[in-house]
Amino acid sequence: MKVVYLDNNATTRVDPEVFEAMLPLLTDQFGNPSSAHGFGALAGAALRNARRQLQALIGAEFDDEITFTSGGTESDNAAILSALQVMPDRTEIVTSAVEHPAVLTLCAHLEETRRVKVHRIPVDCQGRLNIDAYRAALNPNVAIVSIMWANNETGTIFPVAKLADLAKEVGALFHTDAVQAVGKLPMDLKSTAIDMLSLSSHKFHGPKGAGALFVKRAVRFHSLIKGGHQESDRRAGTENTPGIVGLGMAAELALKFMDDETPRIKWLRDRLENGLVQRVPNTFVNGDPLERLPNTASIGFERIEGHGILHLLDRKGIVCSSGSACTSGCAEPSHVLSAMKMPYGAVRFSFARDNDQEDVDRVLEVLPSIVEKLRDASTSEPDSRGAEDLHCVPGLSGRRTGHHS
Ligand SMILES: *Cc1c(COP(=O)(O)O)cnc(C)c1O
Repeated sequence: MKVVYLDNNATTRVDPEVFEAMLPLLTDQFGNPSSAHGFGALAGAALRNARRQLQALIGAEFDDEITFTSGGTESDNAAILSALQVMPDRTEIVTSAVEHPAVLTLCAHLEETRRVKVHRIPVDCQGRLNIDAYRAALNPNVAIVSIMWANNETGTIFPVAKLADLAKEVGALFHTDAVQAVGKLPMDLKSTAIDMLSLSSHKFHGPKGAGALFVKRAVRFHSLIKGGHQESDRRAGTENTPGIVGLGMAAELALKFMDDETPRIKWLRDRLENGLVQRVPNTFVNGDPLERLPNTASIGFERIEGHGILHLLDRKGIVCSSGSACTSGCAEPSHVLSAMKMPYGAVRFSFARDNDQEDVDRVLEVLPSIVEKLRDASTSEPDSRGAEDLHCVPGLSGRRTGHHS
C-alpha cells in the first residue's frame, strides 16, 4: 500500500538532490573543517557554500549572521539563554501561549529555576495573537521576546516584523521560531528588526539534526555550547558537515521551488478543506483564514477527538497528526487548541512538494465514512462541553459548516 504522507509539519522527506549533495561529505570529503590542511579546507569550503545558500533563503544581510546548530530546539534554547546573559539586568520574557515546546518548556524551566518572569500572550479562537496584551506586556525589564513566525498546528502566521518593531521600543531583543515558516514563506530579514531567528533543516526536505540560528550582526551573543572555536565561537563542537551541506542544498531548492510550489500546495490544501467541509457535516477549519501557511490544514470534527481519526486513517495508509483540546484525560492534549478554546480535537494535514491531487482525493474518499463511524460510536452529546463556557463557538466566530445540500 502506498503511504499518503500528509504530516510534513512533523518532518519531511530528504530531497534526492539534498541526499546527493550530502554523499561526498559522508565519503571522500570527510575532513574536519577546523584542520590546518587542505583536505580539511575542502569541508570548510562546503560549509561556506551552505551558509550562503541559507543566507539567500532568509534574506540575511551577511553570511556570518548564520550559525549552524543541531536544529530548531537548540536554536530556540541558544537564542533565549543568550539574551538573558547579554542583558543581565532584564529578567522578563515575552512569548505566546502557542509556541513549540522548545520555547515553552525552556520558559517554564527558567521561571522555576531563575526567577525569570514569563508573559505568555494569549490567542483568539482563530489562533491570532492578542496585540493589546502583547503591547501591555512589553516593558523595559523584558530581555527578549520570542514569538513564532507560524504555528506548527494551525499554520496561523504572526506579524513578526511588526511585533519586532514594538519590542525595539522597549529595548528588548526579538527572536522568532521560524521553523515552520522558513522555506514556505518569502523572507527578507535584512529589512526587518528581527534580531534572532531559528530554523530547522528537516522541516524543508533537509536532513534531521541540522539547523541554524540567525543572529543580526549588531546583536551580542553568548554561545550555549562551550568548547572549541567552531562557528566563530558561537557553537562549539565539530560541525555536522553532511547535515549542514544538506541544509544548504535544501535551502537552495526551497528558494528555487517556492514561486511555483506555493500556489500548487495551497490549491491541494484548499481542495482538501473544501472537500471535507462539503462531505462531512459539522466540520470546521481552524486557524486564521487569511494569515495562514499555505500547506497546513487543521480540521475539527464536532463531537469527536482527533486521535480516533488518526488511527483509522493510519490503517488506510494515510498519515497525519492530531491534537485534542482538553487539558486532562485525553490522548493528545494540544496546548495550541486549548489556548484557542477549541471545543473539539483536530486533525492536521500538512502538505509539501511531494504531495499531489491523488493524495487529497484519497483522503476525501476514506475520511467521511471514518467520521460517521466514530460519531455513531461516540457517547458524547452534541455540544456537551457547554458552548457558553467557550469564548469561541464554532459556527459563530469559527468557520464551521453545515451539510451542503
Ligand atoms: C519542529 C519544530 C521545532 C523543533 O525543531 P527540531 O529541529 O526538530 O528540534 C521547533 N519549533 C517548531 C515551530 C517546530 O515545528
